[in-house]
Amino acid sequence: MPIIKQTHLCLNEKIDLFIFYFYYSLKMECTKCKKRLDLSLFSYKNIEDKIYYLYCDNCREKTNNDNKKIYNNINYLYVKNNNVISCKCGKNYIAFRSYHITRHENSKYHKENIIS
Ligand SMILES: [Zn+2]
Ligand SMILES: [Zn+2]
Repeated sequence: MPIIKQTHLCLNEKIDLFIFYFYYSLKMECTKCKKRLDLSLFSYKNIEDKIYYLYCDNCREKTNNDNKKIYNNINYLYVKNNNVISCKCGKNYIAFRSYHITRHENSKYHKENIIS
């Protein structure tokens, strides 16, 4: 809390000061963790209009990480489902990294079945 000299203030200044302290002591409830937290723990969604995110920074970070995990899982499944290789040896296998192909081509199954 900043120190402001409160001596000899006119009414308008007192009102300003009151508003200032009022905003400073404002707390907001995070809609995620349901905690009443200091506004400093929230980030602006829109700085110009002074609109805050409804999640505190902590929850927002957690949510972002969860979203990243979900995205990675979806991405993994997508890649997994779209990289099925039908080999000449008759085997279908998943390859989303080149070493999967190398590994298959060096496998016993592939070597035994590619010749015949
Ligand atoms: Zn929260
Ligand atoms: Zn093969």
